Amino acid sequence: MQPTCERNSASGSATLLCMHKFTTEAAQSIRRAIETGELHRAIELHCRFFPPARVTHIHDTDENDLREFLHTPLPIFSFCTDEELRELRLRLDTAICLGARPESALMPDAGFSWDHPMSLKAAAQNFFNAIGAHRNISGWLKSGLVETARILNSSDGPCSACLQAAHEYELHQLPNLPLHNCENLNTIGCRCVICPSRIKGLTQQWK
Ligand SMILES: [Zn+2]
Repeated sequence: MQPTCERNSASGSATLLCMHKFTTEAAQSIRRAIETGELHRAIELHCRFFPPARVTHIHDTDENDLREFLHTPLPIFSFCTDEELRELRLRLDTAICLGARPESALMPDAGFSWDHPMSLKAAAQNFFNAIGAHRNISGWLKSGLVETARILNSSDGPCSACLQAAHEYELHQLPNLPLHNCENLNTIGCRCVICPSRIKGLTQQWK
């Protein structure tokens, strides 16, 4: 598959349309590769269709990242059916591969229904946040350099449960994000983040 439409198009809108089709086809190829577990192929396709110069990356993708996105347990999404969660993961994995923003993975598409109190956009953001935190904590545990971490609240009106959870923890005692008792799970979701607070050999700490 090559992006030939762009070269042959006379008008700007036709170019846009063809680029959209190309992007969709590329996304579908990447998606199929992710779906069948061919993560190497997904990454190879991503590099072929979206060379770095053409993509604004918000995620550095590698095979480990994709595995993380496919397999990290997400207890907060227990309200989803297995099928919904799988579909959400696939859409977001595809977005990651394309270097796209999470919202772009949630464009209306036949066959996907989402009938839950948490908005689909909030679900995507919480999903990314949860997996990012999971990946960071795994890395900190492996390195042995981070001794404690702190939950930090967002600056836009955190709920009382999030405020209460915002303190320092030993790594193995950190609660999962999104916080299960966050009062915003029915709307915008939990926006808390986790940052290292005590690092071996460093005396200065987050307060
Ligand atoms: Zn909250």
